[in-house]
Amino acid sequence: MTTLLLTHAACLDHATPPGHPERPDRLRAVAKVLGEDRFSSLVRGQAPAGTLDLVTLCHDEHYVSEIRRIAPASGLIYLDGDTSMSPGTWEAVMRGVGGAVAATDAVMSGAHNNAFVAVRPPGHHAEINRPMGFCLFDNAAIAARHAQRKYGIARAAVVDFDVHHGNGTQDIFWADKTVMYCSTHQMPLFPGTGARSERGEHDNIVNAPLASEDGGAKFRAAFENVILPQLTAFSPELIIVSAGFDAHYRDPLASLNLKAEDFDWVTRKLMDVADSTAGGRIVSVLEGGYDLQGLTESVAAHVSALMGAESRLNASA
Ligand SMILES: [Zn+2]
Repeated sequence: MTTLLLTHAACLDHATPPGHPERPDRLRAVAKVLGEDRFSSLVRGQAPAGTLDLVTLCHDEHYVSEIRRIAPASGLIYLDGDTSMSPGTWEAVMRGVGGAVAATDAVMSGAHNNAFVAVRPPGHHAEINRPMGFCLFDNAAIAARHAQRKYGIARAAVVDFDVHHGNGTQDIFWADKTVMYCSTHQMPLFPGTGARSERGEHDNIVNAPLASEDGGAKFRAAFENVILPQLTAFSPELIIVSAGFDAHYRDPLASLNLKAEDFDWVTRKLMDVADSTAGGRIVSVLEGGYDLQGLTESVAAHVSALMGAESRLNASA
């Protein structure tokens, strides 16, 4: 089993205001932990730059051209209270799109079993025609639609365990019966969407909201009882993971109280579904995760599982 890791140094050049949780050190921390010996069998590559044609698979052309037009030559401009652009942002977001798409190509072609794309800023809050919540373009959604257009797959799934609801991904696929979007998230919490009653036009949206302090047992139950059965019944030919790690107990933005082993667990469960319906194909794209220790522990658990490494926790159980 081979796992591809794609990243790019340009993703460090998206600057955010002092004290902003979505900061370049997140990606430096991820790079450091994935540089350890236990990850030596990862196949490493550079995320290529995406193209406008890829971005407009999911986003309005006018929105994309406006984002490009207003990119600042110096300093920061604010798109909303949380979301800003610096001179390096355009290149960073295009590497995010290109990385997610290149990872999808690598997995769809059979070159690698699965892939992890370590990029920033995240993407799942970006709606069809507006930026939101640190996000400009929805990398995971673009990857799913690219896989459908290029490889003709009939059903793709995006599974999102970031602690925030992926309102952008839901917006993009709301009326698209060929893509299932599944999400666990803390509620109430930003962005306010993600009620169980939000099901999409074709029952293709599966929201499993959790409450503050719910912890790993309820997170696992939401997957076992709500998401995994519907995901399996949908029979996706590719699973894209919106891999946010801000549900970790150390994270400053939320209080879902997960531990690294919960991310190991959910990754294995998604691999089981992928093995049964998708030839094992999983493309995982980094979303949130704002405590550096929580982020690196969780990324390590997630990527170890993708690599097929035996879980020390499971092995000792
Ligand atoms: Zn988040």
